[in-house]
Amino acid sequence: MRFEILSFLFFFLLKNHVASKRYTNYTLFRSVPLNSIQLDFLRTMGKAYRVNYWREPGVINKTVEFTVAPEDKEVLLKAAEQNNVDVTTIMEDVQQAFDKQTVATYIRRRLSTFDWQNYYRLRDIYVWLKDLAAAHPEEVVIQSIGKTFEGRHILACKVNLKGTRKRSTVIVEGGIHAREWVGAAFVTFFIHQIVNSPSSKNLALKMIGSTYEFVFIPVTNPDGYEYTHTTDRLWRKNRVNRHGVDINRNFGIAFGTVGVSFDKDDEIYCGHSAFSEKESQAMAKIINSYSSTLEYYLAFHSYGQYMILPYAHSQKHQENFDEVARICQTANNKIKHRYGTIYTVGTAYDTVGYSTSGVSGCWTKASFRTPYVITFELRDSGRHGFALPPSQIMPTCLETMDGVVSILNPKGKKLSKIQSSYGESVVTGTASAFIVNNTSIRMFNGIVIITLLKMHF
Ligand SMILES: [Zn+2]
Repeated sequence: MRFEILSFLFFFLLKNHVASKRYTNYTLFRSVPLNSIQLDFLRTMGKAYRVNYWREPGVINKTVEFTVAPEDKEVLLKAAEQNNVDVTTIMEDVQQAFDKQTVATYIRRRLSTFDWQNYYRLRDIYVWLKDLAAAHPEEVVIQSIGKTFEGRHILACKVNLKGTRKRSTVIVEGGIHAREWVGAAFVTFFIHQIVNSPSSKNLALKMIGSTYEFVFIPVTNPDGYEYTHTTDRLWRKNRVNRHGVDINRNFGIAFGTVGVSFDKDDEIYCGHSAFSEKESQAMAKIINSYSSTLEYYLAFHSYGQYMILPYAHSQKHQENFDEVARICQTANNKIKHRYGTIYTVGTAYDTVGYSTSGVSGCWTKASFRTPYVITFELRDSGRHGFALPPSQIMPTCLETMDGVVSILNPKGKKLSKIQSSYGESVVTGTASAFIVNNTSIRMFNGIVIITLLKMHF
């Protein structure tokens, strides 16, 4: 009997060991392409040397970061040298850095054991959310907005504090990319801050808590998030049919046109069609259900310290870009004030240096004329990347919250000009079903706005 238990345990450990991919002696490299030949090399090396991009090649002068397996290292460095590409080592052994990313266990019904000093597994995040709702039954509601390929719930946490004027809605998305752990961690912190805002000494936070209704989706990609904990720390996509789809390339905006791959094995595989994925469908449905009051759509990713504004598929500054960029620059100053962390504000092209399509926030803005759509790439600027140490979770949360409070602060904000036409809209897929009789009715700064939409498909 004892032998059976031991052999079972051994098998279990062995199985876990075999299943879990190790990145021992994988090196994190950085390179900055200075001309188109170097950029071409950095682009094409991906397949040739089994490179995992942490920051994809964009344009000339934009940083590229990637990991390489120990067996491919020498040959890649040689090829880089032959192409005059300078490569700097950032981290000798990525696995060592991952091993420092401690994952704690949340103790049921003890809210204080969820602490932002560690990362957490999905079940702990979900139990914490449910405990939070149980502690604030009239203000916090947990709702499953859909189920994933592997049958996990995608949970939304709705916060509507007592006495809220219900002026408009803020939707907050986290964890759409599995390996960007600090993004999901920040969204749980954001929830905690709003729920506890009535007793906060921060008057701006207090006012924000009682001004909006909030819908948080801390882990938009539960299957992928779990997979990064159990099997492959660098997994990005969901887990559909094992190859997965990049959910943030799967929304119905300029779908499949730029910054995507149609190769299922690629990190940025966008799926066979817009909204093919359960996660993007679930998000579209919940966003649509709040479209008449939706004022802010905030998405949290890592890393790079950017605030990225729509549209990711275009190099142009469109609609109210200047106004949102100004708000983000003010937030940037607030963030900097705490620890000196500096963000860059702009479109995807302006910031990361490449365009992408099928992005959640862009689809939201194009479909519902949501005034304030911002995608955050949180810490850091490349020292640790996805291996951000747990000691940086709380500082990241505190400074980001400073920025978010500044962005949501309704004082002195000008009414955004809402255009009456969708013009050259590139919205595709299920968007048409969401807007009844070509009319969008939404609240904005306490004013009801009825917008006639001219959709082009
Ligand atoms: Zn991301």
